[in-house]
Amino acid sequence: MERMNRKQEILDHGYIEMVECMGSDERIIEAARMSTQAGFKGWPGDERLLSYLWRNQHSSPFEMCEAVFEIKAPIFVARQWMRHRTQSYNEASARYTELCTEDYLPTVERLLNVDTENKQAQGTGAELGAWDAEVFRRDMAQQYENAGLLYGEMLEAGVPKELARCVLPVARYTVFRAKANLLNWLKFVRLRADSHAQYEIRVYADALEDMLAEKFPRTLALFREHG
Ligand SMILES: Cc1cc2nc3c(=O)[nH]c(=O)nc-3n(C[C@H](O)[C@H](O)[C@H](O)COP(=O)(O)OP(=O)(O)OC[C@H]3O[C@@H](n4cnc5c(N)ncnc54)[C@H](O)[C@@H]3O)c2cc1C
Repeated sequence: MERMNRKQEILDHGYIEMVECMGSDERIIEAARMSTQAGFKGWPGDERLLSYLWRNQHSSPFEMCEAVFEIKAPIFVARQWMRHRTQSYNEASARYTELCTEDYLPTVERLLNVDTENKQAQGTGAELGAWDAEVFRRDMAQQYENAGLLYGEMLEAGVPKELARCVLPVARYTVFRAKANLLNWLKFVRLRADSHAQYEIRVYADALEDMLAEKFPRTLALFREHG
């Protein structure tokens, strides 16, 4: 397996890093040609076969490639992410270690952002002004700080980590690794880079898609053209 070290900062304290990646566009062709054992013949000729496979959902050759990502994201993003059951996960344990000290604080622009297309992104309909958003942002930061102080106090007093964490917000950052094959990564991107997905997971899915595009440029071009 080739080791890669591509990392991109996301949100205010997060990141996504491609830890490892196996396979290539050529390997997908080789897998498809197992039936006749003819192997990879070369680009651009084999682009026709790759396109045929993708457009006609001959999907198993795309399952022959895999990628592992390390993600630092707010807990609420990790909860959305882990709904994707075809990925394998390992996450930092808040029972054995203290959680990191960072919380996601949305910008004022993000707090004000009302997406009229995306139902799940809409507020109650009340008009939020920039001044109010700034005040809420400050209150959020204060709330996070209070939670962090209580967490620290409880740990110092001997409360088990697995219980002290109860006071932390879902904005607290967590770190996990996720592994999937290329086909399932693309299904994940289809759902989570979509405009209906929440902005905070979309930015990770966009970065993940770009990293896959570096490793599998021809497959990603087909994915972007045909979905
Ligand atoms: C914009 C958006 C909004 C969402 N809102 C909500 C919400 O409000 N509430 C909520 O609970 N969830 C919500 N979800 C999560 C969503 O319902 C899915 O759980 C999540 O997107 C994972 O999709 P998946 O099941 O296709 O993925 P995976 O779990 O990776 O599964 C991939 C595919 O494998 C098959 N599969 C896997 N497991 C099973 C199984 N047990 N039985 C049958 N087929 C299976 C299915 O074909 C599935 O599409 C939302 C997702 C998105 C993208």
